[in-house]
Amino acid sequence: MNKDIKIVNNIEEILLKEELSKQDIISLLNANEHEKTSIFAKALQIKREQIGNKVWFRGLIEFSNLCSKNCFYCGIRSGNTNVHRYEVTDNEIIDAVNYAYNNQFGSIVLQAGERTNKSYIQRITDIIRKIKKLSNGELGITLSLGEQTEETYRKWFDAGAHRYLIRIEVSNRELYKKLHPSDNNHIYDKRIEALQLLQKIGYQVGTGVMIGLPFQTIENLAEDLLFFKDFGIDMIGMGPYIEHEDTPLYQYKDTLLSKKERFDLSLKMIAILRIMMKNINIAATTAMQSIDPLGREKALKVGANIIMPNLTPVKYRSDYLLYEDKPCINEEAEECKNCLEARVKMAGDEIAYGEWGDSRYFFNRQKSH
Ligand code: SAH
Ligand code: SF4
Repeated sequence: MNKDIKIVNNIEEILLKEELSKQDIISLLNANEHEKTSIFAKALQIKREQIGNKVWFRGLIEFSNLCSKNCFYCGIRSGNTNVHRYEVTDNEIIDAVNYAYNNQFGSIVLQAGERTNKSYIQRITDIIRKIKKLSNGELGITLSLGEQTEETYRKWFDAGAHRYLIRIEVSNRELYKKLHPSDNNHIYDKRIEALQLLQKIGYQVGTGVMIGLPFQTIENLAEDLLFFKDFGIDMIGMGPYIEHEDTPLYQYKDTLLSKKERFDLSLKMIAILRIMMKNINIAATTAMQSIDPLGREKALKVGANIIMPNLTPVKYRSDYLLYEDKPCINEEAEECKNCLEARVKMAGDEIAYGEWGDSRYFFNRQKSH
């Protein structure tokens, strides 16, 4: 009994600190059911103080599952021949963008597998320009198109994109190697360099990790959180790793934490990050929802403030299966929007329509340079 009380005090003490050490973070990640309520309460309090109860929408358009990479965890990796490959047409992308604009989503996200050929780069540049034009510059544009050259990142930035998401996936170099083929296409240092280039060019930079991967330890996750902080990251999207049958990592499925445990760990990661980085943007990711139907609302309650409603035309969605049981693959955008509104309210938040919802942290970072 006494021992229990001592542990509770310990978590409470850690929560009073200005800076968290790696050991502090590990203790928080290991918190038991009872202790974690204090962590969640503190994270929510910080979110309310720093961000209020606003949630910003980013309409997500997963416009192609063609990918030249072969990451061991991903269902649309190039080596998976069971995937029907698709490409959303320019007109369909513009329709989805119009939907976002007419419904006052502040921003859209263009996401796809990784490709680097010239005509593709030009196509993206043209689409970015079109989006800026049709929305009178009002829609914010986030890209999530993997590793590109500095020239390409600049080209897209100059065309009007202002945020870029590229997950480090895992910040530990050795673990990164275990999760990717060892070839020139999957180099840890290049991923880091991509983040540095994007920051240098002036993007708001988002990254993130998967939680509950094979071989990953609690210590690795603590390192991930410190990595985000040291890097000065503006936005984070992180969520549970979910196995996919047609991937090399599937063979380790019996060694994984249960899906519920991965989900719970993801909530803790979000809450601790909100405590460590008070005014960044944190997404309540789709992978959270795929394990728990109320996953995104739960994420909002422990510190997340961004939701990315899926605007990919429904006919393509079942082909963008990065992992199993991806939710909302049959829902039209309108249904998604209505159910989301109700859900966000349930979490005690309000959707901030018509606003970009940039990370305040980003502006402070810019000023201090
Ligand atoms: N190709 C781009 C963007 C699309 S992939 C890129 O890789 O940056 C988007 C994200 O999906 C990846 O960063 C990865 O973190 C996530 N992802 C891939 N496979 C996953 C899986 N099995 N479980 C959970 N997330 C996964
Ligand atoms: Fe391609 Fe991204 Fe999947 Fe890796 S995670 S295989 S880069 S889509």
